[in-house]
Amino acid sequence: MQFSRRDFLRCTTALAAAALPLPRVLAQPRFTASPFTLGVASGYPSPDGIVLWTRLATDLRAAVEIGWEVAADEGFQKIVQRGRETAEPEWAHSVHAEVAGLAPGRHYFYRFHAGGAVSPIGRTRTAPTAGATTERLRFAFGSCQHYEQGYFTAYRHMAAEDLDLMVHLGDYIYESSWGRAHVRKHDAGEPVMLEDYRNRYAIYKSDADLQAAHAAFPWICTWDDHEVQNDYANDRSVGLDPRDEFLRRRAAAYQAYYEHLPLPKRMRPRGPDARIYTRVDYGGLAAFHVLDDRQYRSYQACPRPNRGGSNVVRSDDCPERLDPQLTLLGTAQEQWLNDGLAGAGTRWNLVAQQTLMAQVDRTMGEGQSFWTDGWDGYPKARERLLGFMESRRIANPVVLSGDVHTFAVADLKTDFDRPGASTVATEFCGGSVTSQGPTLKQTEAWRAENPHVLFANGFRHGYTTLEINAKRCTARMRVADEKEINAPVHTLAAWTVESGKAGAQRGA
Ligand code: FE
Ligand code: CA
Repeated sequence: MQFSRRDFLRCTTALAAAALPLPRVLAQPRFTASPFTLGVASGYPSPDGIVLWTRLATDLRAAVEIGWEVAADEGFQKIVQRGRETAEPEWAHSVHAEVAGLAPGRHYFYRFHAGGAVSPIGRTRTAPTAGATTERLRFAFGSCQHYEQGYFTAYRHMAAEDLDLMVHLGDYIYESSWGRAHVRKHDAGEPVMLEDYRNRYAIYKSDADLQAAHAAFPWICTWDDHEVQNDYANDRSVGLDPRDEFLRRRAAAYQAYYEHLPLPKRMRPRGPDARIYTRVDYGGLAAFHVLDDRQYRSYQACPRPNRGGSNVVRSDDCPERLDPQLTLLGTAQEQWLNDGLAGAGTRWNLVAQQTLMAQVDRTMGEGQSFWTDGWDGYPKARERLLGFMESRRIANPVVLSGDVHTFAVADLKTDFDRPGASTVATEFCGGSVTSQGPTLKQTEAWRAENPHVLFANGFRHGYTTLEINAKRCTARMRVADEKEINAPVHTLAAWTVESGKAGAQRGA
């Protein structure tokens, strides 16, 4: 029997966990080429800390010790902290260093060392002190970056903006090839195994513009479906694969996600489970309630015959959709969100999540039809959430969404069908970074049929910035032609929410 180095490492890890720490066998390689080609990233800012991420691009089958440094200046003259992490082959040589003891609300610079190589420098920023008066928060959010469908030029422009952080709302990778006018290729089929997903991330992470946006400010992340498979729900795949088989795939996909993003260690998956929903506070000004609406959701109502996944259903034909048992977040997360909204105590409550919350009736005139993969498939769960916001008078709820590849602005109501129902919250859907969206004709129809949808454009792509102060929150939709590698950026539209008054108004 061959006892590989990898098996040996696994044994030492198990022993170390069981007893006193044992010396670990670590490779001290000398890299001939930089192993930092996947870039660096930071995430999840707190008032005194930040998560630093990198992954070594190496075929080594041994663990590697990686050093990190955090400095107050870009020249690393004033290093404020140093530490070491072990990059394990079982986790694709990724590291998630949790730095603590930093000062609130300020910029820092960081870099990694391994085997004689030094990483590119990243810049990050801590959050303000909890509850402190904070003048301003400016951040970007985005989602849906199909690599084949466009260049990540939008990220180059995002990286150049003066932002405190970035919120990614899912579809960081796509598992499948689809869409028109590809500008580049995945050069691999649909991932199923861990190694396949790792390779897919490596292709996306090799993009210089995406790396620049990671190196420019900290990210907060959640996933949507394409990090695993289109339209999956909980433990059910679109093709109704055997449950165990699909959960093995989900475990591989979740692990690869963790390995490639600056998530804190507590989010490390255990088999097919990973708790990534969390709250990030930004002083007394805003709280980000970051949701996971894939892992715990009820199956979509009324799927196509012998299929899982989404469908467009006429409301009369699918009464199951109205079942109050249906949940998009799962009971535990619903309760956690309610507690967080009621307890945040911040002026603004930003609900960062995957799918469109506003009702969108897709049948012109008489009758209604809905797409079941977003909140429209779970209308009673939506009513519960918006009803809670209304009855508990949650301060300035603003919902951030992705998924539909459309820049959209909507007034969120407890009853979308009752003209004159009060607006409880405001929704900004970020548009997709590159992924193909609905036509202008389709989005115009949505608007015409759904008066609470104030704006919709799925033709342009990019990201949205949100600038928040005590008085107002202004969204700017920033667009760049995704088929053009050097395309300029411009503001497609700006919409504002005044503090104390839910609903959006056009203009900055
Ligand atoms: Fe998408
Ligand atoms: Ca209708």
